[in-house]
Amino acid sequence: MTIGIIGAGISGLTLAYELQKQGINYRLWEAASQPGGYIQSQWEGPPATDNPEHGKYLCEIGPNSLLGDADLLAWLDGLGLTPDLTFSRPVSKVRYIFRAGKYRQLPTGPLSLLLGTFGEPSFFSWKTKLAIFRERTNKTHSPPGETLADFFRRRFSSELVDYALGPFVSGIYAGDPEHLLVSETFPILLRYEKEYGSVLRGLIKNQSATGRRQSFSFRNGMQMLPNALAANLTNLLLHDAVKLISPVNGGWQVETSTGTRFVDKLVLAVGTDAAARLVEPHYADFARLLRQVIYPPMTAVHSIYKRTDVRHPLNGFGGLNPKIEGRFSAGHIWSSSIFDGRCPADEVLFTTFVGGQTNTRNAQLPDDVLADKVHQELADGFGVMADKPVFRNIARWERAIPQYDAGIVAVKQPVKTAEADQLFVCANWYGGVSLSDCIGKAKKLATQLADSPRINNF
Ligand SMILES: Cc1cc2nc3c(=O)[nH]c(=O)nc-3n(C[C@H](O)[C@H](O)[C@H](O)COP(=O)(O)OP(=O)(O)OC[C@H]3O[C@@H](n4cnc5c(N)ncnc54)[C@H](O)[C@@H]3O)c2cc1C
Repeated sequence: MTIGIIGAGISGLTLAYELQKQGINYRLWEAASQPGGYIQSQWEGPPATDNPEHGKYLCEIGPNSLLGDADLLAWLDGLGLTPDLTFSRPVSKVRYIFRAGKYRQLPTGPLSLLLGTFGEPSFFSWKTKLAIFRERTNKTHSPPGETLADFFRRRFSSELVDYALGPFVSGIYAGDPEHLLVSETFPILLRYEKEYGSVLRGLIKNQSATGRRQSFSFRNGMQMLPNALAANLTNLLLHDAVKLISPVNGGWQVETSTGTRFVDKLVLAVGTDAAARLVEPHYADFARLLRQVIYPPMTAVHSIYKRTDVRHPLNGFGGLNPKIEGRFSAGHIWSSSIFDGRCPADEVLFTTFVGGQTNTRNAQLPDDVLADKVHQELADGFGVMADKPVFRNIARWERAIPQYDAGIVAVKQPVKTAEADQLFVCANWYGGVSLSDCIGKAKKLATQLADSPRINNF
């Protein structure tokens, strides 16, 4: 008996690895020639002095970091990745937001919220500060279908939506809080509101229960994770796209570029576009709903400058741009401030994200226009004095991150219906988009499939 998995991104790889650990037979098909899907790390630029076989700049094309707790670290240890872990520097807890003509530090605690930081005036108005302190007595409740923006406006203030939630959501989820649903993106906030009558009270009460989560990457970038998973797998087939799936004898016939195979259960670990093409002949309505899921485009621009050419101390995670400020990009990550080893010590590496749901058009501009605009924004925002970067890399995602809005809610029911036909979903558009969500869901599904009576262990 075999489980088929289509797609070797982090979701499919983790599922295959967990099934293999339990001795369950599986086949994992991947269309591309390398595993990892969105996870792609590239050493670019002139040869590195310590390793002339690759470039000296580590550019993350997709995800930059993984947020995880002790359990996730133990799991990575099982993959032999502990010696390669690179934790984000403590300074990266500091975030800058563009406001009133410059990047300003977002408060990191109650004191800086009240008083501001080192000669800087307080970031938020008294109205917002009061709303934050009064949140614990806010007795309102979330109506069905509430957006993230409405949730935060109701419990806090519009200013918090514009200058904290908005930039965070567009920088990290490529999304617009006016469309994303609180129930789908941060269901924990609804739980806190219901159980404790307050988000802040819920956060405080659960601080120790959830365990400390840390942000990290790996010595050679995020790609080390899919590579380690793939190296452990015995039944991963790269460069083998699945063309067609057909229900046969209570299981599925899978037609790939290299042949046809029967599997007892089939798991879709692909994006909604690929999933729609595969399910279309059997579930027309499911395919239609999958096609309605929105993935805005996002372009990642890596820029390297000499350290001496940048006036800003770059003492933090980076600078995010609120939509209301009308800046060009969603924000800039100071990659070389967050992690060691991204570029030589006398240079700095910025990763700029352009696009997302609030600014799709900018992501699609031609390279030269886009490069120029990003350089201008870095120059006026962080005091870059050079005329151009010493090196630049542009990477485009036409479909970046699925948006957890009403469109995502609509696909939940057909996913459940297909399970009765032994067709399952394990992907970032179902139950959480972050890498730690994807890993968690894949582990859970492996247990569910392993417990299922139809599987005979080999
Ligand atoms: C720019 C960007 C930055 C991000 N930053 C972060 C971050 O810092 N931290 C974080 O936690 N998350 C981040 N994310 C989100 C995270 O990277 C993704 O949600 C996650 O990698 C998705 O993994 P997946 O396995 O579900 O899907 P995918 O990575 O999309 O994998 C699907 C795989 O299926 C394959 N496939 C498709 N069709 C077929 C077929 N017919 N046959 C066989 N194979 C097929 C594809 O080639 C692909 O390899 C970021 C995403 C983007 C785009």
